[in-house]
Order: sequence, then C-alpha cells, then structure tokens
Amino acid sequence: MLNVDEILSLPKLGKDDSFTFGCNRCGSCCREREDILLTPLDLFKISKYLDKSIPDTLADYCEMYEGRDSKIPIVRIRPREYRRTCPFAKKEGCLIHSVKPAVCALFPIGRITNMYTDEFTYFMQPITCGNKRQTQTIRQWLSEYTMLEEESFTVLWHQKAGEISTILREVYNKHTFNHDAINSALLMILYIRYDMDVDFVQQFTANCAEALQIVEVIAAEA
Ligand code: SF4
Ligand code: SF4
Repeated sequence: MLNVDEILSLPKLGKDDSFTFGCNRCGSCCREREDILLTPLDLFKISKYLDKSIPDTLADYCEMYEGRDSKIPIVRIRPREYRRTCPFAKKEGCLIHSVKPAVCALFPIGRITNMYTDEFTYFMQPITCGNKRQTQTIRQWLSEYTMLEEESFTVLWHQKAGEISTILREVYNKHTFNHDAINSALLMILYIRYDMDVDFVQQFTANCAEALQIVEVIAAEA
C-alpha cells in the first residue's frame, strides 16, 4: 500500500483527464489481499445483489476489526486461506462484478477526498499489470461502476467517520473502556441496521447521527 508521501508525489488527475490502461482480467489484484475494505454502502449493495441479509454477508465473507488509528469498526473481505484470494474471485471473474467494492472499482485509480471542499483528486497507481490498449477519462472509468453517484456518500462517510473517530480517540486516551461493546454497537448502527428496500443514503444519514449521539454520550459520561 502507498504511503502519504508516495501518493502526494504522483501526478494528479481531474475527472476529464485521460489515462491509458486496459485490464487483462488476469485476477492478480484479487490474490494476496487482506486490504479490501468495505464501506457501509459496499456492504449494502453486495448484500442486495447476493440477495442476502447484511448479517449473513458479514458472516459468510467478511471480518471486522477496530481501526488502529481511527478506533472505529472496519469491515474487510475475509480472504480464503489459499493464496489469500478474495472469496468473490471465480474462474469466470468477479462474482460481484457489477457491485464490486469501491476500492476494486477504482483500481488502478486512487482517490484523495478533500473533506472541506467535497472535491476529489485522482491519481494512477504505479502498477505493472494490464495493457496500454485503452484510453479513457477518469469520468468514463468511474461511470462504469456508478462511482460518480457515490461521491456524495463518500464525502459524508469520511466526515462522519472522522467525527466519531475524533471523539472515540479522545475518550480511549483518557479512560479504560470495553471497546468490544462500543465496536458492536457502532458496527450494528453504521453497517448492519438497514432496510434493503429503503434509500441507503437516507438511512445512513440517520444512522450516523445516532452513532454520533452515542459516542457523545459516552464522552460526556466518561
Ligand atoms: S471483490 Fe471482486 S474485484 Fe474485488 S478483490 Fe474480490 S474478486 Fe477481485
Ligand atoms: S486490474 Fe491488473 S491485476 Fe487486476 S485483473 Fe486487471 S490486469 Fe490483472
């Protein structure tokens, strides 16, 4: 994974800038992976596509841990033991191709979110895979997986996760708490408790407000 200095040194791209890359569908980027993180929206979309409940998708394909720095629950795809391969990688391709997680849909493009201006900057990751037979704009690349429509969610997710994380880090620095109980509550509110037939962003906005309220109460009582 690139560090911040490496990312900042790469040429930046706007939505109407072009880049040259074609995917050979070799599947290498689905192996040796332990870093396919899922946002609440990824999890919602994948569950809906697989016609599973969110808890079943979590149990069948994911694992959760507490973010080392953020202190909020992080959900990632649980790789298979063999070659640490993503469980959605099949001979014929990605089982959830049309709803693949944002991190997969963007690749090999990386994205930097400016929380204050709601603007995104893109960069091409230094990769050795693929071919040079296809040139497209960033906008065209993002359109293929509805990544443009998800930008407002992405800004909201970063903002709210940042607010919750700031409060939790302060509280955990000063007091001893049962992290498991707080992680379980936040996992439920932020990732799990959604009605699959109701607009996701509307529910997510309400759930974030509730999660924020809970950590504020914890901070006040600490
Ligand atoms: S979700 Fe699909 S594209 Fe992403 S790592 Fe798994 S198989 Fe590959
Ligand atoms: S993105 Fe690269 S590594 Fe992944 S399948 Fe395409 S060519 Fe292979």
